[in-house]
Amino acid sequence: MDAVSVLLEISVFVIGLSIGSFLNVVIIRSREGETIRGRSHCRACKKTLSARELIPIASFLLQKGRCRGCGTAFSLQYPLVELGTGLAFTAAAFLFPQDFLFDVRALTGFILVCIGIAAGIVILVSDLRFQIIPNGAVFVLLILGIIRLFVVAKPPYGGLASVTLVNHASAYDIGFSIIFALFFAGLWFFSQGKWMGFGDVKLTGATSLIVGFPVSIIAFLFSFWLGGIVGTILLLSSRKNWGRRIPFGPFILAGTALAFFISRIYPPFLFFFRFF
Ligand SMILES: [Zn+2]
Repeated sequence: MDAVSVLLEISVFVIGLSIGSFLNVVIIRSREGETIRGRSHCRACKKTLSARELIPIASFLLQKGRCRGCGTAFSLQYPLVELGTGLAFTAAAFLFPQDFLFDVRALTGFILVCIGIAAGIVILVSDLRFQIIPNGAVFVLLILGIIRLFVVAKPPYGGLASVTLVNHASAYDIGFSIIFALFFAGLWFFSQGKWMGFGDVKLTGATSLIVGFPVSIIAFLFSFWLGGIVGTILLLSSRKNWGRRIPFGPFILAGTALAFFISRIYPPFLFFFRFF
């Protein structure tokens, strides 16, 4: 890596930290039904936070994770989401050509991937902490999925990076997205919301559309394998009992991200699906 690339990665990381700071606001306020406008404040004493109290990561470390007004401990969610967004954006940048900043098509692709990551982080944290999958974030993913249907070239398999304005809207992409959403809707319906929430149904429809066929099949399988493995570990260590719902959104997101990155890094992985 040359100096320019290093500088670019650092910039992407810092931008990711700031976006992560914004995502924290979205996660907390969407749960409380507030708008995302208005100054940030301590949730305990309502003190408005100054600019130096809002620096990603640094403010949290300097204040030892506490409000400077009342001393109430802030949630670890704040630094973790900031750092996670920074790292995820940086990792995404590595998937693109080194000079992607100067190539309009690659830059557009990178920005779309980052928007997807941001929406995914909002869903991940909201589902883990509050068992909520915010509709707004799912809607963002759905829009990305629809954009992908129209602008991302498909064949050869794995060539998802090459953005061309060719209409490759595929019956398989849409068909499998509907099939997986219906499958989850069935689980939701017959378990009366115990195994799945309806948010999981909408989320699967959107993520399947984003990765497209055949990656969506692998994403679907990965989600269930991950859910099964982690669920079994949690149950055996009796952290959760059988009656309680384990949020499934994080497994859908993890399965999708895993399938997407493997198919990008190692396209022959999709060899077995070529007969379609
Ligand atoms: Zn306070």
